[in-house]
Amino acid sequence: MLPLDPDADIGRRAWVACPNCDDRRGCATCEQGRTCSTHWRYLLSCTGSLLHLQCPSCTHVWTHETHFGATRSA
Ligand SMILES: [Zn+2]
Ligand SMILES: [Zn+2]
Repeated sequence: MLPLDPDADIGRRAWVACPNCDDRRGCATCEQGRTCSTHWRYLLSCTGSLLHLQCPSCTHVWTHETHFGATRSA
């Protein structure tokens, strides 16, 4: 288990599924796409459309591509 990142701030959260522990499985709130009070991730930082996240359940750290703000090339 990694320690929580020093940038982890409970005031900055993101609702993204954790690719490591999948702790939202079976949660009715998450299945409805609502902002669950239990299953959320620390938003460490964001660079363009990339979010740097840490899961408070398993301390997994990963990068999530939101494609938000990305240039469309089609
Ligand atoms: Zn996790
Ligand atoms: Zn949930």
